[in-house]
Amino acid sequence: MKQQWRYLIAGLIAIFLLAGCGNENKANERSKEEKLQIVTTYSILYDIVKNIGGSRVDIHSLAPVGSNPHEYDPLPLDIQKATDADAVFYNGLNLEAGNSWFEKLLDTAGKSGKDAPVFRLSEGVEAKHLTTKGKEGEEDPHAWLDIRNGIKYAENAKKALIKIDPEHAGIYEKNAKEYIARLQDLHNEAVENFSQIPKEKRYLVTSEGAFKYFCEAYDFEAGYIWEINAENQGTPQQVKTIVDIVKQRKVPVLFVETSVDPRNMNTVSEETGVPVGGTLFTDSLGKPGEAGDSYIKMMESNISVILDHLKEE
Ligand SMILES: [Zn+2]
Repeated sequence: MKQQWRYLIAGLIAIFLLAGCGNENKANERSKEEKLQIVTTYSILYDIVKNIGGSRVDIHSLAPVGSNPHEYDPLPLDIQKATDADAVFYNGLNLEAGNSWFEKLLDTAGKSGKDAPVFRLSEGVEAKHLTTKGKEGEEDPHAWLDIRNGIKYAENAKKALIKIDPEHAGIYEKNAKEYIARLQDLHNEAVENFSQIPKEKRYLVTSEGAFKYFCEAYDFEAGYIWEINAENQGTPQQVKTIVDIVKQRKVPVLFVETSVDPRNMNTVSEETGVPVGGTLFTDSLGKPGEAGDSYIKMMESNISVILDHLKEE
């Protein structure tokens, strides 16, 4: 009887061990084959990370297409996705700072620790600052509108993906190389195309002052109604200031952005008689299947809209 018990116990131990090994093998296999679960704060980062991660990544973007990522109220699904994510990518430079929504989300999702897999894609970008009185210490987030910074974002995305998934480094290296080459070509085309616009006409008027990085890269100046989407938008004083500038500089055309309410710019147009000539992408891609539905396409669209309205006839 004693002997039988011994056999039984030995048998049970063997079964447990086998079952254990089996599970472990399965887990290894799963981590190799299953896609990485990624969360990005808005659609432009979604597209850049998608280009580097390719079929290895499943991405959930928080602020939806067409919305303003400066201020966002995460939904229960967003919190779930951020909690489960293998990595979270954000812009930084004061973008996701309005109402501290992103910081709160990371806290809730258990990803606010020092070693949490949370990556700032603007790492290495030389920050520009706001110029509005009292806000000079705050960074301007719109670095991606200079395509050379988009290249930095792509490199940072590559490094982060390799860090969390080193076994597939080759895929990320290859995707990044191809994507960055396309971005470099697009930057060169932009510089060449904009050379058709005489210097005195290189002045962009938009609702939000999102073009600081763009202006430096492509040699423009910019005017705006409000400097950043997180502040009071379209106060009478702000409208009056830009109306005066438009009249004084004899600006021929105004632009409006896809991710802001166009009514303020329409007011500027009514008060100056200058038409709203085109729509630019700043803080969001276009809807899937529509114009500007990737980072490259949104920048191509911006280049051609600006060119159409400002180049010499
Ligand atoms: Zn913005």
